[in-house]
Amino acid sequence: AKRLGGNTFHYYSHTLQESATRRMRLDTDLRSALENQQLAVHYQPIVHLSSGKIQKAEALVRWQHPTLGFVSPAEFIPVAEASALIIKIGDWVFQQAIMLAAQLRAVHDADFQVSVNVSPVQFRLNREGWQHWAEHLARLKLPGKTVAVEITEGLLMESRDEILNQLLLLRDMGMQVALDDFGTGYSSLAYLQKFDIDYLKIDRAFVQNISSGSSELSLCEAMIVMAHKLGLKVIAEGIETEEQCNMLRSIGCDYGQGFLFSRPIPANDLYELLGRTL
Ligand code: C2E
Ligand code: CA
Ligand code: CA
Ligand code: CA
Repeated sequence: AKRLGGNTFHYYSHTLQESATRRMRLDTDLRSALENQQLAVHYQPIVHLSSGKIQKAEALVRWQHPTLGFVSPAEFIPVAEASALIIKIGDWVFQQAIMLAAQLRAVHDADFQVSVNVSPVQFRLNREGWQHWAEHLARLKLPGKTVAVEITEGLLMESRDEILNQLLLLRDMGMQVALDDFGTGYSSLAYLQKFDIDYLKIDRAFVQNISSGSSELSLCEAMIVMAHKLGLKVIAEGIETEEQCNMLRSIGCDYGQGFLFSRPIPANDLYELLGRTL
């Protein structure tokens, strides 16, 4: 930055200052956001591609800030992760998601599954294990399979016994595990074999550029073939067009998720959507 002109440097340090201030502001306000009912959980349908049925949904947290407006989880989740706040938010999202699943399982589809994103920090700071999640499920008389936990490759790369044991605990409770954003990090197919993973979620970056003859199409096909050989189901993220959907279906992709089917929507809207489509 030193080689840049004075004005440029000034401008640059100014924005850094601004973003640090905003981060502190978000950190402070996030602490009371739950109590003040500013957080909500939206659900994005996951479609079984060969039948067209919505069999699952991903829970995605939303924050409507009173003065800043909508703040993206891509911005505030890292803030929550920097403190223990992510535990509180993660537990709350989990409880919201299984309440919706209980309703949908009773009325629409006995096997309906919700997936929740679990940050590596939730594994690292988790002192009480996952017993409280087991209790929440038991209270609603739900089997573990109601939930799929979405984790990222970074977690598996840590390879710490303590974290692996926690994954096993979730598995013992019957929950399923999905590997999120597959293909973006240091993906290794070895992880899929080493850890007991149920779903592979192909990242939106691949899906976006899929077209006939593209290298993305070949990559997706290779990922699907190998995932199936290892006994995993594949979910493609970020499907926006019919063309992408048809292409993925033709190479054997099991599930799809994206704006083509639906954006993430409030629980009530999903409830109505399922009532209309099932
Ligand atoms: P993610 O887990 O990869 O979630 C998928 C993101 O892609 C969501 O963004 C979703 O709205 C967006 N998306 C879905 N379909 C499409 C599409 O067709 N086109 C495009 N352009 N985008 C699509 P969102 O809701 O903003 O979430 C961003 C990230 O924040 C998530 O990425 C996840 O890493 C994190 N996140 C969200 N909710 C939670 C949560 O409850 N806990 C944790 N730990 N992380 C969360
Ligand atoms: Ca996810
Ligand atoms: Ca993802
Ligand atoms: Ca992603």
